[in-house]
Amino acid sequence: MGTYNIIHTELSCPRCGECGQVEVNCYFGDRSEMSRLRIGDSYPWVPERQPQNGGRPEQGSTDGEGYMECERCGKDSFLRVLVREDLITGVVVDPTKPGMIPDGEECGMVRIVEVLDHFVLLGKGVVLTGVPLQK
Ligand SMILES: [Zn+2]
Repeated sequence: MGTYNIIHTELSCPRCGECGQVEVNCYFGDRSEMSRLRIGDSYPWVPERQPQNGGRPEQGSTDGEGYMECERCGKDSFLRVLVREDLITGVVVDPTKPGMIPDGEECGMVRIVEVLDHFVLLGKGVVLTGVPLQK
């Protein structure tokens, strides 16, 4: 997954609800230093670059892509890292992107919820596409 910055913060895990210290991996801005950051810190940008290449977004404000894995339940969540006028102001759950590790009892097993015509619906609404169906 390449390089990322890490924000240390306290968050309740969206998957198990446990609150605790987490490390949020940030996949935007200047990641070359793999900076360790906290909420309230200023966020690093790549000088003289467009925002999609890690440069400073307009007014230094963006909702950047974040990702975490919970130490307690071992499941992952996608987050939005809120940066306002270059300062990290908070981290919220991204409701549009469910984690890649599905729910289910067995660790590492994919739980199939429902088989549709061309798709297999996994736990938490994760859709696996292109699965040929045996009829
Ligand atoms: Zn958890």
